[in-house]
Amino acid sequence: MPAKSILICGAGIAGPALAYWLNRYGFEPALIERAPAFRDGGYMIDVWGTGYEILKRYGLLDAARARGYIFDRLEFVDEKGREVAGFGGEIFRGAFDNRFFSVPRGDLAHVLYDTVKDKVETVFGATIRALHQDEQGVRADLTNGQTRRFDLVIGAGGLHSPVREMVFGPERAFEQYLGYCAASFITSGYPHRDEATYMSFARPGRQISRYAMRDGKTAFLFVFAADKPPLIAPHDSAGQKRLLHGIFGNDGWECPEILARLDAADELYFDPVSQIRMPQWTRGRVALLGDAAYCPSLLAGAGSAFAMLGAYVLAGELHRAGGDHGIAFSAYEAKLSGFMRRQQDNAVRFAGSFTPKTAFGVFLRNRVLNLMNVTPVGVWLTRQMLGEIFSLPDYG
Ligand SMILES: Cc1cc2nc3c(=O)[nH]c(=O)nc-3n(C[C@H](O)[C@H](O)[C@H](O)COP(=O)(O)OP(=O)(O)OC[C@H]3O[C@@H](n4cnc5c(N)ncnc54)[C@H](O)[C@@H]3O)c2cc1C
Repeated sequence: MPAKSILICGAGIAGPALAYWLNRYGFEPALIERAPAFRDGGYMIDVWGTGYEILKRYGLLDAARARGYIFDRLEFVDEKGREVAGFGGEIFRGAFDNRFFSVPRGDLAHVLYDTVKDKVETVFGATIRALHQDEQGVRADLTNGQTRRFDLVIGAGGLHSPVREMVFGPERAFEQYLGYCAASFITSGYPHRDEATYMSFARPGRQISRYAMRDGKTAFLFVFAADKPPLIAPHDSAGQKRLLHGIFGNDGWECPEILARLDAADELYFDPVSQIRMPQWTRGRVALLGDAAYCPSLLAGAGSAFAMLGAYVLAGELHRAGGDHGIAFSAYEAKLSGFMRRQQDNAVRFAGSFTPKTAFGVFLRNRVLNLMNVTPVGVWLTRQMLGEIFSLPDYG
């Protein structure tokens, strides 16, 4: 029997993106999300190359651009707020023929979710407790007490995917920690704005960035080096805030003001900067998608683009195979695994230069950033770093 009903675990970027295509192709997707309501936190995401092309394919480029930003300048400052390095946004736009913009992660997630929220069942505040596959389908025991049957189950729960844990094994078997952690939050009424500028302050092994958004909001991103991921429970935001105070508490620039805002933040995103590398993303009637399968890490700057790409290909292959999940899952892996692996390798190479761990490394990174102002050098360097564009299959 061809697959029809499909449970998607996780309503971040990958989950709603998959629901969008499955719904268009006549499947019956349902989303289950652990959070009690839709999560719209996160820092700015840059959209270019594959991300730009995939949004066009979704027909959502204009909607995303309407919520997006065109940055004019990337600037690093010292303890006293004096510029130490920077370059103009036209370098990035030049490298991608103006097909480059930034959008807050939460806005992109909304653009995707808004396309399906009235068409696709979404269960908030619950998750999958157990999965049992048989010849006919998959039984899902949910934490809200329900037991339901689906033809297929897709794990789109991000870096710490519960479906991956249940069906493929423990996270530690697939996680490659890259030596950094990241945190982000959004606040309102922060007094320093520097419109259209990515402002960053860096010390060896740590950095804070901010970007002024519409409606008086500001997004902040912390990145810091740590030999091991800190032993803090994923939902212990008080512990995460204490840790960030310990790391940035003695720094100058606006750090004391930013930490005060952090204390008042309701939603904090906090995660190790890790990759997920797996030999296979599918098993029987279960497949993984997005960060759950091939998280490239924050350092690739393209996790959302790859989640949308994966959703497009997975749904397209199911459609092309008339719902035969065996054929579709093989094609999904064959089409994407080489590309994802190359992008992950690229991100690992880039890791050291994102937040250098030594004073000399910071100095060198600043010199390279300043070199970006020489336009041909900047365009060449950008293309080297952000390179390959995936050639999108056509599913009609
Ligand atoms: C609130 C938030 C803020 C983020 N901020 C940033 C950022 O600033 N910078 C950055 O690079 N990346 C950020 N990310 C990660 C980024 O969105 C992903 O790397 C990328 O978009 C891939 O998307 P995804 O859908 O695979 O994973 P995610 O976007 O992480 O989505 C996974 C979804 O699954 C849900 N989920 C998790 N566990 C379960 C469970 N047991 N049952 C049901 N649902 C579950 C999560 O709540 C989430 O909604 C953020 C993610 C979230 C959820």
